[in-house]
Amino acid sequence: MTTSAQTHQGPLQVAPHSQALTTSATLAMNETVAAKRAAGHTVIHLGFGEAPFPLHPLLKTALDEAATHTSYAPVQGIAPLRRAIADYLSRTRSLSLSAEGVIVAPGSKPLLYALLQVLDGDLLLPVPSWVSYAPQAHMAGKQVLPVDTSPEDHHRLTPDTLADAFSRAKQAGANPRLLLVNMPSNPTGSMLDRADVEAMTTWAREQGITIISDEIYAELAHGWHPHTSPAIFYPEGAIITGGLSKAFSAGGWRLGYAALPAGAAGRQVMAAVRAVASDIWSSATTPVQEAAAVAYSPNAELEQYVQRSARLHGHVTGRLYATLVSLGVRCPRPAGAFYLYPDFAPWRSALAARGIHTSADLARTLLEEWDIATLPGSEFCEQPEALRLRLATSLLHAEDHLSSQERAATLWGLLEQADTLPAEHPAAGTPLKLPMLEQAQVRLSEFVASLGEPR
Ligand code: PLP
Repeated sequence: MTTSAQTHQGPLQVAPHSQALTTSATLAMNETVAAKRAAGHTVIHLGFGEAPFPLHPLLKTALDEAATHTSYAPVQGIAPLRRAIADYLSRTRSLSLSAEGVIVAPGSKPLLYALLQVLDGDLLLPVPSWVSYAPQAHMAGKQVLPVDTSPEDHHRLTPDTLADAFSRAKQAGANPRLLLVNMPSNPTGSMLDRADVEAMTTWAREQGITIISDEIYAELAHGWHPHTSPAIFYPEGAIITGGLSKAFSAGGWRLGYAALPAGAAGRQVMAAVRAVASDIWSSATTPVQEAAAVAYSPNAELEQYVQRSARLHGHVTGRLYATLVSLGVRCPRPAGAFYLYPDFAPWRSALAARGIHTSADLARTLLEEWDIATLPGSEFCEQPEALRLRLATSLLHAEDHLSSQERAATLWGLLEQADTLPAEHPAAGTPLKLPMLEQAQVRLSEFVASLGEPR
């Protein structure tokens, strides 16, 4: 006998454990903005973080030359690339890494997932954190254990906040064994001081916790706050991930890496990650790996390109930050990447009077009534009622009506001017001509003015 539910089931049915999955919020926002623009709206797009600069010609040549390499690459990646990445990280982060500990993949995202899949224990995750970590951890069957941070101290992580989250997790019966940190942070742009990184690693070592350090934005530190990798203090327990997407503005090339600790435990984790890779994506694209080997080899021109990109991100992000601060909006000063994380809590009652009670309400109103695309803090693991938004500044460098040739010329022109920006304060100095940024400043100012005085 069949039940009525069985009778009505069609041939396609999502499995129960996958029914709560949704499209990554960033990608979904991009599609919404495209639809609004197609309908004639001038949308200020602060909803999607994509490094915007044109590909460096040296990488184009390297890719062209490798186009005929059509065989699958080894699962862990081609040896010259793994060597180049190990040397690059050793050179730029004061580490001592070898090619055996490096694996490359189609982006760092699948590697983060593979790591969460193979590493034992539940995940301590600072709040706020990037949109994909928690869904990935859930897909890998892990509990996500929030580590609360506060806007008052720029979402700093301290041994106290970590210990607090750790003991709450233990009391709730979880098995916290992993900590995922991301510096510079998406969504806040903040970075930890060297002393905080050291204190965090000391705590992690005492508790036997693996740190996954997502350093995809490390090269885009704006210049006034140095990046410190946890692997410096904790080489036996820290895994670094990174890739070409942000520093080389090549997200579509899908090339990321993970660098694992040396020694027997690191080799075991590598074998497990390689197994996931071999059964899911086989290898990163072979020609892209060849070109990536060029990106990670010492080259003054490429280093200048990356440094100029970082300085420009600092300039644009810093100028929008200055606007927010002048409007009375509380916001951590961004130290890297291309994000701002303003808090509209001082306008809670003015917003409530307009029916806005959550960050999702706020983001929706901004998009529908002000044509400003943002992402709500709730996408970054925040409580729904925290009135924080993530603003991505990476699409403010060039106007969106430009042809691709005009756009490339504009962006090269900006890169040329980046050396004039002071490293300690890239938002200071002569302001670069940036019409999209100016539009964003004006429209955000109008919105904040419409709310009245903060309380
Ligand atoms: N980590 C963070 C914090 C990111 O913002 C992103 C991309 O947006 C990634 C990882 C994924 O990068 P990839 O292109 O290497 O998969």
